[in-house]
Amino acid sequence: MRYQFKFRPYRRKFVRSLTTNHGNWDIREGIILSLTDETLKVGWGEIAPISWFGSETLEQALDFCRQLPAEITDDTIFSIPDELPACQFGFESAWESGVGSGEWGSELFSMPNAPCPMPHAQAFSALLPSGEAALNQWETLWQRGYRTFKWKIGVDAIAHELEIFESLIHTLPASTKLRLDANGGLSYEEANLWLWTCDNLKANPKIPLEIEFIEQPLPVEQFQGMLELSLSYETAIALDESVATLGQLAACHQQGWRGIFVIKPGIVGSPSRLRKFCHQHQIDAVFSSVFETAIARQAALQLAAELSRNNRAIGFGIDHFFEQEDTWLQSLWNDL
Ligand code: MG
Repeated sequence: MRYQFKFRPYRRKFVRSLTTNHGNWDIREGIILSLTDETLKVGWGEIAPISWFGSETLEQALDFCRQLPAEITDDTIFSIPDELPACQFGFESAWESGVGSGEWGSELFSMPNAPCPMPHAQAFSALLPSGEAALNQWETLWQRGYRTFKWKIGVDAIAHELEIFESLIHTLPASTKLRLDANGGLSYEEANLWLWTCDNLKANPKIPLEIEFIEQPLPVEQFQGMLELSLSYETAIALDESVATLGQLAACHQQGWRGIFVIKPGIVGSPSRLRKFCHQHQIDAVFSSVFETAIARQAALQLAAELSRNNRAIGFGIDHFFEQEDTWLQSLWNDL
């Protein structure tokens, strides 16, 4: 099969800049692509790299797109090198969405006008702003139906963050689940302190909210440390940065990780190979956004629906970080 291939880069500004241990992030840049087959069926895809998280850079993705001919084949799509995981996802999901014989048909993806079918907010984890701002923001999100929240830690001094955390757990309603995401920003001692604090909360009947897990407490290089911590505390640990791509996911699993894996479909690599891995190993996975547009989100949500287990909320509660996307995305589609 041969496909007409087109692509356009995009830039999208966050309403509020996203602060993590990796620094501030203000503008999301990516690439929207389309594949048109001989019967004029169109599949849409999105390449949304986060290089500081372990994917290729936007420039590498653009270079890859630029060197491709205007007409590509199945072979092109399924032989993208592992060094370009966001490209693997973008091309393969475009193929699945419209032109290929994917598991979900093109009727589900009548772009560009169909709104993305969204599961109920309860199935999502909403990202709170970091620092004290979380104390003011959770209520609006709660009113929108969110019951699982994620709060970034490892951004400020630990003593200060523990204070805010103390206020937060006394403010959040009983049935809330809270995830703490350190983005690899804690020392071994700090990670112990956070895990110890969370274990104590678990044992305290006066605190009815649940700390679901601590995400990526230590830097990627300290895998053994996290493995050790995961065996020492009751509070679960989820690997995120450590398992950014399929290769890393397989390596951590192979080295004995049986905790939670955060999967960001947008940068993890080939969807078909991800399916195969998850089916084979039945891992406890939490699916999460890379601040993609509706195009990649639809493909990512599809994977989450297929591969999530243990009733874990998915990390796509991030709409409040962007202005309404309809208008500019529409113009981008028209342009393509
Ligand atoms: Mg994370």
